[in-house]
Amino acid sequence: MGGAPIDQHKQVLGYCAECDREWGPARREHLGRWLECPENPCHYAAVVRGDTGKHWLRIESWLRTYELKISPVNLLGLKHKAGYWVLIRFVALVFFLIGSSVDSTYLWIPLLCLTGYLLADILIANTSVALFT
Ligand SMILES: [Zn+2]
Repeated sequence: MGGAPIDQHKQVLGYCAECDREWGPARREHLGRWLECPENPCHYAAVVRGDTGKHWLRIESWLRTYELKISPVNLLGLKHKAGYWVLIRFVALVFFLIGSSVDSTYLWIPLLCLTGYLLADILIANTSVALFT
């Protein structure tokens, strides 16, 4: 009977963020290593530490899903032309801000929604860059 008690919340383990599956325990030196989920090899799975690591992996997984499916960059087919997208987004935001000063509810509400979508995209894309680089 020796050694430090195992803290279940900080245990190093394999985790799939998409099907909420756990494997483990894993070795500490394998932290951050990508895993292949037996459920689906395309799932987002890695070796993480405890509940905090699982939480961050779920956020990364959501950001990846956003980038691949919901982001306007992908919807407009500009995946490999990020520079064009930054320019288009800037021009669109200026246009929306000018357009929102027009006194028309029919124009104002869709412009506000589009502006919110573009601003959310800027925030999510930058968060994604901060996490993945
Ligand atoms: Zn999985």
